[in-house]
Amino acid sequence: MVQVLGIFIALAGLSAVFYALERIFPSLPDQRSWRRDSRLDVLYWFWTPLATRAMSKAVAGTGVAVALAVLGRHVGLEGMRGFGPIARQPQGLIVLEMFLLGDVIGYWSHRVFHHSLLWNFHAVHHSSRQLDWLSAVRVHPVNDVLSKLALAVPLACLGFPLNALAGYVPFLTFYAILLHANVSWSFGPLRYVIASPLFHRWHHTTEEQGLDKNFAPLFPFVDLAFGTFYMPRLRRPERFGTTTTIVPETFIGQLTFPFRKQSYRADAFPAAPAPAAPCAPPRCRRGDDHEQAAASDHAERVVG
Ligand SMILES: [Zn+2]
Ligand SMILES: [Zn+2]
Repeated sequence: MVQVLGIFIALAGLSAVFYALERIFPSLPDQRSWRRDSRLDVLYWFWTPLATRAMSKAVAGTGVAVALAVLGRHVGLEGMRGFGPIARQPQGLIVLEMFLLGDVIGYWSHRVFHHSLLWNFHAVHHSSRQLDWLSAVRVHPVNDVLSKLALAVPLACLGFPLNALAGYVPFLTFYAILLHANVSWSFGPLRYVIASPLFHRWHHTTEEQGLDKNFAPLFPFVDLAFGTFYMPRLRRPERFGTTTTIVPETFIGQLTFPFRKQSYRADAFPAAPAPAAPCAPPRCRRGDDHEQAAASDHAERVVG
């Protein structure tokens, strides 16, 4: 009951903050704050922290305990404090290494979800066609459980303290709320260093240039390193959703859909416009000319 009350309070506070941010710095100014499937996402706001998180904790916790037992380690005090050369380092360095390695693991597990039979679980997260902060928690439990398991087991086995891990995972979840917001921030000179809303919104686009790009949870340079970075300076993504997978729009439908036989339809959504299409707000900012946008787009593709 206390948890439910906490979610109500968090939702009220976050609604006020993101209502203001999405009004003042909109990526898509015409997108409404309350959309057709907002009620579905509100349901996820209760389901994800109450049910999905419990499943993830149980499975990832068991996975860590078993893996540490195989290594002859105890999950108790030893696991909490960490062990081996990793745990003997200064705390700041441990946290930095955990963030970096965690991002590489998160990048690859996310990429695997895009390119395997696991896609149908991840497609639920990609099903929002009007992306905003509220849609951040639309995640299938299997997606969440496997991602957390893939992250926690290797980090714990390397000797990273479970205490630090217990703070890292909620931080990622909280930061993801900002990443999905309908906000135009790219973080300017830090665009390659810290994931911005623009960076992750490109990940969710159905526009061809952005497909299977920007997998990293926190550090865009991980995408740069593996050749999947895409964030043109003068364009913003406008279309979101899934291109070939039809995800049901109901809560139960989304939870059960990955377990059912799928129907794929390549023409489910309109094709993305060609990169050289004429500019129209908010794709191009005032004063941008069409060739500039195309040149910038090309430059980013070369970099990424
Ligand atoms: Zn994805
Ligand atoms: Zn996302």
